[in-house]
Amino acid sequence: MTDERHGRISDRERLWTPWRMRYIASSGAREEGCVFCNALARENDVESLILHRGEHAFVIMNLFPYNSGHIMILPNEHVDDPTKLDAATLHEMADLMPICVRALRRVYANQGFNIGYNVGSAAGAGIAEHLHQHIVPRWNGDANFMPVLASTIAMPELLPASYAKIRAELRREMRNTSLVWALMLVDDDRSVLLTDDLRPGMEGQRMIPKVIAEPDQPLWRAAITPFQGWVDDIEVAGYGGKSSVLGGFENVIMLRGQIRSELPESWSINPIETTRFVSRYRSMIHRALGNLAPRIGPPSDPETT
Ligand SMILES: [Zn+2]
Repeated sequence: MTDERHGRISDRERLWTPWRMRYIASSGAREEGCVFCNALARENDVESLILHRGEHAFVIMNLFPYNSGHIMILPNEHVDDPTKLDAATLHEMADLMPICVRALRRVYANQGFNIGYNVGSAAGAGIAEHLHQHIVPRWNGDANFMPVLASTIAMPELLPASYAKIRAELRREMRNTSLVWALMLVDDDRSVLLTDDLRPGMEGQRMIPKVIAEPDQPLWRAAITPFQGWVDDIEVAGYGGKSSVLGGFENVIMLRGQIRSELPESWSINPIETTRFVSRYRSMIHRALGNLAPRIGPPSDPETT
């Protein structure tokens, strides 16, 4: 029984946090210092699961979520008590909360939220030394999914998929754009689907398809629409935009699927290893492959590809 339980814990860690497991495996020790400050200090926000960086506060996903879409708002400053925060930080955190709620609601269509702080370990804070406000989406009847023990947690969605959906939607809230790029992986993640550029002078160029979402449509759902009817088993695999939340405007959602019928005219299957992508696409694809939800085995290091 003990072995089985250990097996489940490690399976869960492998599933939800593959990069963290890589980190632990490579360092041979637990992470030193504050995990939140460490995440802020790293440059790859996709890997650190940082969704937004502000002047005084940031938003990050919970590594061990209570529900899909469990995110947190934190001050950039390492403090353990709200009375130690200055007004500017408190205001920024307060401003971020409804933005996060709007974004999550659009992504998940959940009926409710738990929002709040556990201040101090006596109140149940897991990492008491760095204050954080939880925002947890809730669904009618979702208590079945709440963990009784850490090892029995049952998450319906992988973290890289949640990250992609929420980061895209938060960016949409803050930049006021409903445009999303949809990069579809097929052939066991060995090829991507591109569409011909039909603009005059651009004939023959292959592009990542772009979609404008309807006002209430989540970006990840809009990203799927070009493939409906000819790609099956579509799932969100990860975020394909810039590693840093401060870099670039493009929201790129990585998808996976199986081609079921003939390709529509002007679409092509492009093997990642042999296609001569424009350099922008090549770096985007290789970067994103390093941060995908697991299925393809150990990902390559996104910093070195
Ligand atoms: Zn800290």
